[in-house]
Amino acid sequence: MEKPLNKYEVLKQYFGHSAFREGQAELIDAVLSGRDALGIMPTGGGKSVCYQLPALMMDGAALVISPLISLMKDQVTALKAADVSAAFVNSSLTAEQMKAVYRNMRAGKYKLVYVAPERLDGDGFAALAQSLPLSLVAVDEAHCISQWGQDFRPSYLRIVDFLEKLPRRPALAAFTATATKQVRDDIARILKLRTPLCITTGFDRPNLYFEVIRPKNKAAALQALIAQRRDKCGIVYCATRSGVEKVCDALRRAGVPATRYHAGLSDEERRQNQESFLYDRAAVMVATNAFGMGIDKSNVGFVIHYNMPKSQEAYYQEAGRAGRDGEKANCTLLYSAGDVQTAKFLIQNSGENEDLTEAQRQAVVQRDHERLNAMIGYCKTTRCLRGYILDYFGQAHQEACGNCGNCRAHFEVKDISSEAQMILSCVKRVRDSLGYSVGAALIVRVLCGSSDQRVLALGLDKLTTYGLMKGIPKARVRELAEALEAQGYLRTDPAHGGVALTPSAGNVLFRNEKVEMTTRESSAPEKRRGKKAAPDGTEEENGLLTALKALRFKLARQENVPAYIIFSNAGLADMAAKAPRNMSEFLEVSGVGAVKASRYGRTFLDEIAKYEDGEKS
Ligand code: ADP
Ligand code: MG
Ligand code: ZN
Repeated sequence: MEKPLNKYEVLKQYFGHSAFREGQAELIDAVLSGRDALGIMPTGGGKSVCYQLPALMMDGAALVISPLISLMKDQVTALKAADVSAAFVNSSLTAEQMKAVYRNMRAGKYKLVYVAPERLDGDGFAALAQSLPLSLVAVDEAHCISQWGQDFRPSYLRIVDFLEKLPRRPALAAFTATATKQVRDDIARILKLRTPLCITTGFDRPNLYFEVIRPKNKAAALQALIAQRRDKCGIVYCATRSGVEKVCDALRRAGVPATRYHAGLSDEERRQNQESFLYDRAAVMVATNAFGMGIDKSNVGFVIHYNMPKSQEAYYQEAGRAGRDGEKANCTLLYSAGDVQTAKFLIQNSGENEDLTEAQRQAVVQRDHERLNAMIGYCKTTRCLRGYILDYFGQAHQEACGNCGNCRAHFEVKDISSEAQMILSCVKRVRDSLGYSVGAALIVRVLCGSSDQRVLALGLDKLTTYGLMKGIPKARVRELAEALEAQGYLRTDPAHGGVALTPSAGNVLFRNEKVEMTTRESSAPEKRRGKKAAPDGTEEENGLLTALKALRFKLARQENVPAYIIFSNAGLADMAAKAPRNMSEFLEVSGVGAVKASRYGRTFLDEIAKYEDGEKS
């Protein structure tokens, strides 16, 4: 009798990977031994393998509970491509298809069955599941069960009931990319995990290059960024639906193959557009945050945020959709002060939780404002951006990563002590004269000597600080004021937006403390990137890689699957670097398992041989 494969062999044979990533082996061992598990890994960290691999090694079928239809379909397609028998149960199936799946389940045909939480208690699914030997139950995107998570789905609560009715509850494994303690505790408590093995892996994604740009004109900056990334596909996130429409139209007019996704489109159009992006027919997806959860497209080369999101959690999750295949990828945020206004508006008007009491609602809004402030801090910091993110998630890190916009930027340090004195004393004078604090915009107008209605009506033109900074552009004065706030000399009240002095402002006003401001020499992306442009991964690719990509594209068309299902970009890059000459060398390529090798090996080896011959002659 054949010896069963061990977990390393299964990893190579079915998934084509030669080593486990952080956390995977431990979680897999736990599940294999029948222990519950909770895996917290960043987006792209490799959570799927943690339940798919044990499912292949254990008897019976694994149930995978997963929130999105698109996600299930994608994962099942990928599994089938590796010769694993799998199926999904959700509302996209016809009654006929559903019957066939149930029949196969009864016959023990599947190693993995993906199921939508809504389906757990309908259509006899529960009864069927109770009669089957189950290897394990995996809950993907498990943060959906927590009200504290960003994406609470009440249907997830049905999982608990479902599990309780099973005659024998198998190992339960839950996975999420949300790291906060509250959500983690909620998952373990609500799902009633039994002394689970909890693993939180590092949140760093070294292949992602982070950058914040403050362009004068976002539309132009976006066009420039997309032009530099012509050979890649990526996502552009906008804060609103109308933003999506505008940006997508502008890109199309400029000849970029872009498509769009937001909650205002019909289901059918959303499905089609998502598919165009997954199948590389549209290189750029312009979307609101409605797009992306569970999008496993691994070859996303860039994520650009046209607006600042509401929290670091949201930003890291969205940006993290780039470079899941381990290839270098770019995460760029286009920031403007207007984004803060939009985010605040969205926070105040998120009408989702209608059953909250007024006090609870205020607590939620308060927390959202705190998250927003951390996000604004990311946009304004001159420190290492990666360090800023890891701090937020409570992870230790090096002082500077050397691979983000701030680590690579040239900063100038300027003495702004005298400007600081003018601004701070104006804040004080206005406050003394009115008896209350006003917003930064009004302070700036007073300093610049504006004869605006409101300035005159309040009599602020009578103050000694009126017109003190006349001749300096308002935007510059605003920037200086923001720098003072970032350094803790000013504070904006989150409730009414008035700016006030902090106690440390006294050091500047009365004790001549020196104030400095660090600014980027240039923040225009067009200027900073040289032709080589190596740091952000936009280097020219070699000819063999181009040929292999073309072949992959052709095969994907023939088989009607997304290209990355055949080989990931990282896999192809490794193939081009190793340029294997025979099947055993081909098996050395990252991402190549026995199944892929037998299916595609010959075709790719021929292509490589053809290319090498061409090079010699
Ligand atoms: P997550 O669900 O955590 O966001 P996925 O399970 O979708 O991440 O995996 C992301 C990518 O990482 C996929 O392209 C997958 O093939 C790859 N991957 C997973 N495990 C490994 C590994 N051990 N070695 C190399 N690549 C891996
Ligand atoms: Mg996943
Ligand atoms: Zn850095």
